[in-house]
Amino acid sequence: MPEPRSAIVVGGGLAGLASAVGLAGRGFRVTLLESRTRLGGRAGSFTDPTTGQMVDACQHVSMGCCTNLTHFLRTVGVDHLLSPQPKLYFVTPDRRTSVFKADPWPAPFHLGRALLGAHYLTPLDKLRVVYGLARMLWERPDADPPLLPWLKSHRQNARTIERFWAIVLTSALNETVDRVGLKYARKVFRDGFVRHRDGFTVHVPTVPLGRLYGDELRAWLASHGVEVRENAGVKRLVLEEPLPPTPSPKKGGGERTDNDSSFILAPPPFLGEGVGGRGSSLRAVELRDGSTLTADWYVLAVPFDRVTDLLPDELAREPYFANVKNLTPSPITSVHLWFDRPVMKLPHAVLIDCLGQWVFNRGEVAPGEFYLQVVVSAARDLKGLGRDEVQRLIVEELGKVFPPVARAKLLRAKVITEHTATFSAVPGVDRWRPVQESPVHNLAVAGDWTATGWPATMEGAVRSGYLAAEAILGRSGQAEKLVQPDLA
Ligand SMILES: Cc1cc2nc3c(=O)[nH]c(=O)nc-3n(C[C@H](O)[C@H](O)[C@H](O)COP(=O)(O)OP(=O)(O)OC[C@H]3O[C@@H](n4cnc5c(N)ncnc54)[C@H](O)[C@@H]3O)c2cc1C
Repeated sequence: MPEPRSAIVVGGGLAGLASAVGLAGRGFRVTLLESRTRLGGRAGSFTDPTTGQMVDACQHVSMGCCTNLTHFLRTVGVDHLLSPQPKLYFVTPDRRTSVFKADPWPAPFHLGRALLGAHYLTPLDKLRVVYGLARMLWERPDADPPLLPWLKSHRQNARTIERFWAIVLTSALNETVDRVGLKYARKVFRDGFVRHRDGFTVHVPTVPLGRLYGDELRAWLASHGVEVRENAGVKRLVLEEPLPPTPSPKKGGGERTDNDSSFILAPPPFLGEGVGGRGSSLRAVELRDGSTLTADWYVLAVPFDRVTDLLPDELAREPYFANVKNLTPSPITSVHLWFDRPVMKLPHAVLIDCLGQWVFNRGEVAPGEFYLQVVVSAARDLKGLGRDEVQRLIVEELGKVFPPVARAKLLRAKVITEHTATFSAVPGVDRWRPVQESPVHNLAVAGDWTATGWPATMEGAVRSGYLAAEAILGRSGQAEKLVQPDLA
């Protein structure tokens, strides 16, 4: 039996987890290094010190079109912990509600009646929207001009922009319509609403994210030989010394050693001129505690703003890595409210003409405690307001839309802002997103910010992890496709 090849994955978010799942399922001995004391990365929970309850930093939802996330969840055995929402509820401040649900007609006609029923758009607005959608789908998939001028030049008025395009896109892309490009806007509508009947179905976890990416996932990883090391922050990646002009390949390698500077990794087959020296490869990762670990293959799956900090200077300067610094962040604020009684009958609501965009009704999470979570994507406008003021504005707004809120006692509240929630899908953003196969031949990169063809989402992160695993499989002579097809 040949020795299994070894891989180190840096980062235990969904991208790192998906690459670990991809490689471990194919005979690699994987070590996953995560700096925090939990898995899931940005899709994670924390324990509320006041109550001991597991609370998501922010509600995460998926959609039917997220085929790779679905595959990942099924693989590790937690797909049953998401609940598909066959209906979406759109609510305006005057408390009128439109129910958005599919008819039993083939795509793209399945949502036609739902759009016609939207009470917050006039009949003429709906015609404008249909025209805009048709023209958008007609555009080249890679066309990426600024969206707002495009919308205006395609007969969209202030009302359709605010009440239709912005409502969908600000949440889906975590960016405002005046900042995004056409490409990812088109993708949201095409994949989510037009291509397939099931694409638009929103899937909401029925448990906190810490539970979703918890016991079953760990059990799967353990049973496939993945060693998960938490509290194991990586300080830097260490490059192999530049190769001599005629490399003399050594057999073996891939042993894991702590503090072993004598270990020399036999480079995988030379695959072309690399950066940082001819045919460069990584030799090790150095952890923050000073120890080093080595493997045959490496996946760097940290957030985009951490990438270059972990690289040796000669790599950080290379355009492949340096371009990542051009990505800009966009914030998300979540407002968590615990009331003393039920305040909302709907399972969720999309709020029109409101500061909050989505409100999720998490029900009675402890005896006498009813939990709502409000999400504000692209929350730049909240900067400088302070948590108390954000909370006050949101509670006041909810009280108007759902009167029981105004009568209930607010037991506790939390306002959490993730300043670097996602990269911003500005026009032309893809030129800064590297493919997973890096120029360092035993290193692949993964993360929602890499070139996935998707915006920053759990689906994008899982895709990137599968693509990183594919890159390693390909380079190690075991080519296999892991990325799942779109809904057919
Ligand atoms: C508030 C918020 C709401 C969101 N809502 C949604 C949603 O509803 N639906 C959706 O699809 N997506 C949503 N997203 C986006 C989604 O969370 C991300 O796209 C996805 O989780 C990114 O996964 P990742 O693995 O690429 O990165 P991360 O989750 O950031 O994982 C990177 C990991 O690397 C670790 N790390 C960093 N540095 C080191 C180091 N030096 N050594 C070791 N480990 C390190 C980090 O601790 C982290 O665990 C949301 C994001 C946020 C912030």
